[in-house]
Amino acid sequence: MNERDSEIIEQLLARSGYVLVDEPETADLILINTCSIRDKAEQKVYSLLGQLAPLKKENPDLKIGVIGCVAQQEGEKISKRAPYVDLIVGTQQIYRIPSILDRLATGRPTREIATDLKSSYIIPAFQKLLRGTPPSPTPAEFRKFVTIMQGCNNYCSYCVVPSTRGREISRSVADIVEEVRILIDQGIKEITLLGQNVNSYGQTNPVDDHAVSFADLLHRVAEISGLERLRFTTSNPKDLSKDLIGCFAEIDILCPHFHLPVQSGSNAVLQKMNRKYTREIYLEKVAELKAARPDIALATDIIVGFPGESDEDFSRTMDLLETVRFHGSFSFKYSDRPNTRSADFADKIPEDIKKERLKRFQTRQDQISLEQNKKYVATLQIVMVESSGEGKVKGRTVTNHIVHFPCPDNVLPGETLSVRITRAGKHSLQGERNTDI
Ligand code: SF4
Repeated sequence: MNERDSEIIEQLLARSGYVLVDEPETADLILINTCSIRDKAEQKVYSLLGQLAPLKKENPDLKIGVIGCVAQQEGEKISKRAPYVDLIVGTQQIYRIPSILDRLATGRPTREIATDLKSSYIIPAFQKLLRGTPPSPTPAEFRKFVTIMQGCNNYCSYCVVPSTRGREISRSVADIVEEVRILIDQGIKEITLLGQNVNSYGQTNPVDDHAVSFADLLHRVAEISGLERLRFTTSNPKDLSKDLIGCFAEIDILCPHFHLPVQSGSNAVLQKMNRKYTREIYLEKVAELKAARPDIALATDIIVGFPGESDEDFSRTMDLLETVRFHGSFSFKYSDRPNTRSADFADKIPEDIKKERLKRFQTRQDQISLEQNKKYVATLQIVMVESSGEGKVKGRTVTNHIVHFPCPDNVLPGETLSVRITRAGKHSLQGERNTDI
């Protein structure tokens, strides 16, 4: 999401005549785009600002800005700790950056803080911002993220997103389809539709297309001629509909890879997290997904050591891992985040226990990932090239596995090649090019 926001800002600033430079020393404007989903985000921003302070001293005309989630969360506090920061712009106000810079250039005001999250104001601005032509891909680019919605209405008790990105807003189908079309015309082969919870696309604050669900949107995007691969992220399992599961059976170009964050295998913990599904519901949906698309590769997110997580709760998470056998997962120790309900929960889990649980989970996940990956050995996979050089190529399968293989030919990012898998590691596969077809 932040990567896409950075692209949008780049696009907006390009329209105002700004160009990217390689070194901060030669910049007239430095913007730090921030994410506060993980621990220590604020400290990292303050440390970076400290490093930039001498540049501002040398060049008082240099403008420094903090944007994104940390700006949303910290607001004015940033200017108290780093008074040389010129603009502080929250997640929903990024489209105003060019006009803020124009005002700052006049010398009045000398600093601007824009952290409004009011959706009645944001919806038209969000639509207008994204309606513009997307940035042209650079020659090495073959895939792009397309934002379909912003914000989230779910209020999981540990999550900063509702307070940093505001209420959920869906973008119109027409705008999304138009952006994908433009990107395909520019040579893009793979699109990932992006939102905090894409499963609830169109359900709240719909801009238009009231009756359109995320499953409908996938069908509409998949019809666009020239698109080779379609992915999406991220999904709250509670909103995973039968229609969406059916898309994996119905849409050829929808890649059989699904990141479906479960967070915990314990119903007691899931309830405290306010996830609004149970392990039984999650497992039911996994079974339906595997029935719809037997080759689907499943990945997930796990938080260990949530406040009150007992040994028994954690063993339920380990048990869920054994049952689903995820191809991969992102797992983290729980940490308090600002403005979240769980920060006030009692029964915090000691650090050493969290560490030990995380290690146990990750060790077992690595073993399972390796076992899952070994199943691809001797199979033929269509690999989309990501990079190449010195006779070696790195690419990705539809199931999102990285594949390395030798290839003396000059191949370009975005090309698809048939590769026979020869070896499996826990994080990637190795293969050799299949030239029989
Ligand atoms: S659904 Fe995802 S983004 Fe929304 S509150 Fe929960 S964890 Fe955060």
